[in-house]
Amino acid sequence: MESRNPNHPKNPEPEVLLQSRNLRRTSCRQGILDILAQAAAALTENEIKAKLDSTHDRTTFYRSFKTLIDNNLVHRIVVDNLLVKYALNPRSYNSGEHVHFYCNRCDSILCIENAHLTGISLPTGFEADETEVIIKGTCKSCKLNTNTDHNE
Ligand SMILES: [Zn+2]
Ligand SMILES: [Zn+2]
Repeated sequence: MESRNPNHPKNPEPEVLLQSRNLRRTSCRQGILDILAQAAAALTENEIKAKLDSTHDRTTFYRSFKTLIDNNLVHRIVVDNLLVKYALNPRSYNSGEHVHFYCNRCDSILCIENAHLTGISLPTGFEADETEVIIKGTCKSCKLNTNTDHNE
């Protein structure tokens, strides 16, 4: 068995996630969840498709992918029209609030778990269904690269 991403605090098992939504275990669903569980950052649809075992045809992939999104196991992170990535939904195994960090230099997106969103109040009569926050900046590895570039 492949080892899981040690950076991921929860290392959710695809089987357990599927079971929690009463979804049948198919190799395609399990494959997609496995790829996302091991990824250090959110992935685009094409990146997921490229990593997935090529025995799954397009239709199976799209159907499985949609099922995982519809059941909130995978979530869509929309930065803008040109950039949409997907990650495992931390809400499926962790109840804490989470926000996204987008790196302007390398386009990577990370889910930041257990973020504390306070001090945002809506006008009277408004009710929030969900909160999406994207913090844009420079990620750790880009920052380290910039610092070494100065020594050229
Ligand atoms: Zn970066
Ligand atoms: Zn996220």
